[in-house]
Amino acid sequence: MSISFQGYAMKIQQMARTCLALGFLLAGSMISFAAWTQSPQLKLTQVSLNTYYAEGLFALGTPLNQNFISNAGVVLAPEGVVVIDALGSPALAQRLIAEIKTITNKPITHVIVTHYHADHVYGLQAFRDVGATIIAQEQGKVYLTSDTARLRLEVSREELAPWIDEQTRLQAADQWVSTDQTVVLSGWPFELMKVGPAHTPDDLAVYVPKEDVLFAGDLMFQGRIPYVGNADSAGWISSLNRLIKIAPSVAVPGHGPFSTDPAKDLLFTRDYLQFLRDNMYEPARNLDDFDEAYKAVDWSPYASYPLFRAANRMNAYNVFLSIQSE
Ligand SMILES: [Zn+2]
Repeated sequence: MSISFQGYAMKIQQMARTCLALGFLLAGSMISFAAWTQSPQLKLTQVSLNTYYAEGLFALGTPLNQNFISNAGVVLAPEGVVVIDALGSPALAQRLIAEIKTITNKPITHVIVTHYHADHVYGLQAFRDVGATIIAQEQGKVYLTSDTARLRLEVSREELAPWIDEQTRLQAADQWVSTDQTVVLSGWPFELMKVGPAHTPDDLAVYVPKEDVLFAGDLMFQGRIPYVGNADSAGWISSLNRLIKIAPSVAVPGHGPFSTDPAKDLLFTRDYLQFLRDNMYEPARNLDDFDEAYKAVDWSPYASYPLFRAANRMNAYNVFLSIQSE
């Protein structure tokens, strides 16, 4: 259950009081009540005739941005609305639901989860509250019962308060996807592709043939270095090859701008992952020293891309480790 509007109003008042008490200043001025409750801006961008998305900020999740750091897709199917990913807090999800109501009277019937990372699923309960059916890849069950999920939520309740709190709960799917399949949702076919393990074990990509739009989740990053994390780099590369074959007109990633040149952007992520594997494979297999191996690589093809400094070394290290465990 999500908290009511009054619940939020009370929380916001508490927060405003806390901010006042602490003399919380930003750029020399007090954050106004309205700025706190309304920021960041959440709007729907049209990417094809009946498909929209809300684009999260290029940032880490903070109380000020309400954890609005990931994207959500919105497909207006003939009989209802299908949402892809639920955003990073129940409050954001409620704002997305309000935005959807400005473009259609149709009910929100389904929400499809591309993977169980906090910034994509903490809003799920708001969609459940409006009667939407939650669809996710079956490996998500493993995450939901893991210590990682429990600890992540505990930390988020502290770091992202009041937007993530004791009322925020992880939501299991109503329908688990165990194989690739085409399902008819609100009158339209949706191709659900089991593309994990890749970015996570439970990745699910969604292709909407009627709109020729692909929702790639966190498998595709446009023009920036991805965060590889403890991903399955070999699985990720082979899944990207499957997505490249679809050749959609438009692709919506889990973060950042949508792509009108998916072939190029899917290839960029695939080639980067392949570059990491090609350069880390021998040293990892030979049990060489990672630091030496990292220094020996000419990283110039990727050094000028955003997030290279923040992510590349950790990505290389994660791929180094994952190759050793293959
Ligand atoms: Zn993710």
